[in-house]
Amino acid sequence: MIPSPFEYHAPTSLADAISLLGRFGDEAKLLAGGHSLLPMMKLRFAAPAHLIDLARIPDLRGIAQVGDQIHIGAMATENDLLRSALLAEKVPLLVEGARSIADPQVRYRGTVGGDISHGDPGNDHPALMLALGASFVLRGPGGARTVSAADFFHGLYDTELQPGEVMTRIEVPIPPAGTGWAYEKLKRKIGDFATAAAAVLLKMDGARVANASITLTNLAATPLKAVAAEAALAGRVLDESALAEAARLAMEICDPVADQRGDADYKRAMAGEMTRRALQKAHSRASA
Ligand SMILES: Cc1cc2nc3c(=O)[nH]c(=O)nc-3n(C[C@H](O)[C@H](O)[C@H](O)COP(=O)(O)OP(=O)(O)OC[C@H]3O[C@@H](n4cnc5c(N)ncnc54)[C@H](O)[C@@H]3O)c2cc1C
Repeated sequence: MIPSPFEYHAPTSLADAISLLGRFGDEAKLLAGGHSLLPMMKLRFAAPAHLIDLARIPDLRGIAQVGDQIHIGAMATENDLLRSALLAEKVPLLVEGARSIADPQVRYRGTVGGDISHGDPGNDHPALMLALGASFVLRGPGGARTVSAADFFHGLYDTELQPGEVMTRIEVPIPPAGTGWAYEKLKRKIGDFATAAAAVLLKMDGARVANASITLTNLAATPLKAVAAEAALAGRVLDESALAEAARLAMEICDPVADQRGDADYKRAMAGEMTRRALQKAHSRASA
């Protein structure tokens, strides 16, 4: 289908984008890579009268280290993540996650800020950012505020972003040296969203787990943090019984929706399997 008519705006500064958002209110939508918004407009699930394109605002791009964090501009594309030597060295979990998203065409245009702002439980960055303890900088007419990933996702397509706000930057704490990482994603084919996926960061203390961060994609209306599974692993050797316990506890918090990718029981079982695989891979990459 063809989208409803709209007026296109291409501001060259963040201030102008925020002012346009304020002027057009509910009638406006921000446009980033367009790979979620334009399909919704073509299906007429969204029919904004004004599109405000963020592509010409230089402040929203770039990936840089600032102290013990990596700052990622909201308009950085998946491809930018894949090509970043800084991320490969400091936060390889994000590179592994970006590689699992869609296909090269989507990765060339789709942005990290758009992936997070959309509030789609099928998107991968929400769980990746939750695992990393990232925060999002949101700027509106009254100034900027910083919201943690843990407080950002409220429900299906429902986030902490308020009318008039733009996500400008993602701030990612650099995991301590020696942290193992993995993003295990089950999908039916290239270009599909996750049937189930698990992100893991794992810090070992000798043979025992010092701490684990475990999050899940597409297994509820928001990304999930498997807090009980994380707690169960602390201080344990990562043997078969610890893996089975973590997988069981991760499955318990899932509330998946049946769709063409499988029924709820299958998805829950796959959540356990992805958790197990991600823990094993992260373990193999961790050093004490
Ligand atoms: C075939 C296909 C397969 C895909 N597979 C996956 C997948 O496996 N995993 C995955 O994670 N994603 C997947 N996607 C989605 C893709 O990653 C999108 O690019 C992403 O969801 C949205 O990013 P975008 O830059 O395209 O945002 P847009 O589509 O431009 O915007 C999405 C929404 O976010 C809002 N928005 C965008 N930027 C901002 C901002 N800076 N501040 C505030 N609001 C903003 C927009 O107003 C809009 O409501 C797939 C898409 C396609 C077409």
